[in-house]
Amino acid sequence: SPGKHNESYTSTCCYCGVGCGVIVKKEKNGTISVAGNKDYPVNKGMLCSKGLNLHYTVNDKSDRLLYPQMRYNKNMPMKRVNWDEALERTAAVFKTFIEKYGPDSVAFYASGQCLTEEYYVVNKLMKGFIGSNNIDTNSRLCMSSAVAAYKMSLGEDSVPVCYDDIELADCFYVTGANPAWCHPILWRRVEAHKAANPNVKIIVVDPRATDTCSVADLHLRVNPGTDITLNHAIGRLLIENGDIDIDFIRNHAEGFAQYSELVFKRTLTEAALICGVSEHDIRLAAKYIGEAKGFISMWTMGLNQSSVGVNKNLSLINLNLITGHIGKPGSGPLSLTGQPNAMGGREVGGLANLLPAHRDLKNSLHREEVQKFWNSKPINPQPGLTATEMFEALEGGRLKAIWIMCTNPLTSLPNVRLAEQALKKAKFVVVQEISSKPETLAYADVILPAAAWAEKEGTMTNSERRISYLNKVIDPPGEALPDAEIICRFAQKMGYRGFDYKNAAEIYAEHVKLTAKTNIDATGVSYELLKEQQSVQWPFKKRLRPAGTPRLFADKQFYTPHGKAIIHAVPDALNSEQPDDNYPFILTTGRVRDQWHTMSKTGKVSKLNQHTKQSFIEINPHDAILLQLNEGDVVVVKSRRGEVRLKTNITSSVKQGVVFIPMHWGKILGNDLHRVNNLTNDALDPISKEPDFKYCAVSVQKY
Ligand code: SF4
Repeated sequence: SPGKHNESYTSTCCYCGVGCGVIVKKEKNGTISVAGNKDYPVNKGMLCSKGLNLHYTVNDKSDRLLYPQMRYNKNMPMKRVNWDEALERTAAVFKTFIEKYGPDSVAFYASGQCLTEEYYVVNKLMKGFIGSNNIDTNSRLCMSSAVAAYKMSLGEDSVPVCYDDIELADCFYVTGANPAWCHPILWRRVEAHKAANPNVKIIVVDPRATDTCSVADLHLRVNPGTDITLNHAIGRLLIENGDIDIDFIRNHAEGFAQYSELVFKRTLTEAALICGVSEHDIRLAAKYIGEAKGFISMWTMGLNQSSVGVNKNLSLINLNLITGHIGKPGSGPLSLTGQPNAMGGREVGGLANLLPAHRDLKNSLHREEVQKFWNSKPINPQPGLTATEMFEALEGGRLKAIWIMCTNPLTSLPNVRLAEQALKKAKFVVVQEISSKPETLAYADVILPAAAWAEKEGTMTNSERRISYLNKVIDPPGEALPDAEIICRFAQKMGYRGFDYKNAAEIYAEHVKLTAKTNIDATGVSYELLKEQQSVQWPFKKRLRPAGTPRLFADKQFYTPHGKAIIHAVPDALNSEQPDDNYPFILTTGRVRDQWHTMSKTGKVSKLNQHTKQSFIEINPHDAILLQLNEGDVVVVKSRRGEVRLKTNITSSVKQGVVFIPMHWGKILGNDLHRVNNLTNDALDPISKEPDFKYCAVSVQKY
């Protein structure tokens, strides 16, 4: 293939949404090695610790699932079967449930790590042929608040900026994110830009003092959950100081009058008190933003994972809108995607409320268009169950069967013990996985071995709308198959037509046809083009611009009904579970530097485990004194949903009254006492249905 040079192949890293380019080299002994791709525009050869160690996760086959397995009864051991047996039984069970209880009695729970082609076929299978919209992914836990906010404010789920805007900006407002650890290569670009241009201002908003703060000009150490109040206070100051773009507001935006009225209802003094930061620092943030010629707002889970996540996002995007910092060089909102292909998944409609190419499930014309294209049965207008709702429905008995692919919900879902109960009660569980380690396997009736990164080809889209092609470098071990092939084989066993693709390129070609004349038109993109160019940014109708469309809204035409961006006057109320006498601390969660999600890949690499060997709880020194704790003491942390037992890390990097526990650890040898999601709250944002991971009330006691 043109993407192959001798035994070296181009690909992109399968961890975070930065989407770094890698060169994968196939060694003579069948193993692979990786290096950063110097020609790739995103990372220009750089990789972070996780990306640099990608090859270990592929070369170590010790935990790989090698052949399909199944059992007829949960008390029986799994036995090896062939693919036909496994898929025929699964099809028979799915058909029985669909016939008896209707199509909404089954569900697929997939992942932001799936390739676009995999998302496409599973979404088509479920929405077009099974006849239910019960297909959701772990992207629901990650970006769904940002998606909803983009749609509400810009009319489309579309990141306006590109990474090359970083070097053109002179002010960064980084909120609810620790990119120094979680999006490291992108952050290196910000750091290098600041080093070369010391006048560039970096404002970091975070209740914790993270590594990202080390280069900040200003760290606003807010009380958890007060983001909207802070953003509104800055908005008010920008208006007071005359640092808004009147022309943009008049001609290209709606809603400013209501917004202005709202933000002036709260005084700066009140806002400072609520946020727990000084008036001086809020003024300084507004000054930096007001003076900027290029202003980029950056955020991730700190805003998204909230029961008011959409409002938090809107309050931030408002700052770009009132200052007119959108659609021009070095300016715009840049949501940092947690997973490598959450964006690609949305492009094919891979969430319970979407249709392909960002079409709307509620729109009858959109449903008809897709149904005709697929030659399928009518598409159900009712949104399907979202991630956490699926597990509630399993627990309640409404949902009978779930197919979990490429994700590890028994570590990653909030209030995870409820999810565990749900899987215990489920009538039928299919787990499609690469590894024998995830806890979900204990509840499976059928286990399907999947191919891993570098063992299959396909595409992904990163945080800046960049579609990249990932080469297949080696064969998967044993009988493992690419996820898309598994789904297509199953669809054929169900008797559905339209899944007999010869290869992944055909699936991709079908997907791009569906994007024609939409806002995300990618009809100019093909495997041929991607192999030649490695990546392009959508929209990409034809090869007029070799790299696609780096920046959106340069013409100030938004995808809303009136073509104007919408400034939303959102309330700053927080509805999270509040601390009380029994649960006096606020728990927030996040990542450590060298681990990825639930560690099923990075946890295999001893080098990466060196950085943080076990989970821990960060607690402020003042709180530690009150609780009579010394560094390293084991504490019991309880919430209304469960408990964990962890070693204390006493540090002033967390505020008094706040504790922090990393998200990565699940059950270890059957013991779940390091699993933070025993504690977290599954309250949802009413619009995005994203859970409130970052805020719940806990107690802490010496063990
Ligand atoms: Fe991979 Fe993200 Fe690291 Fe780049 S920054 S190497 S995409 S984990």
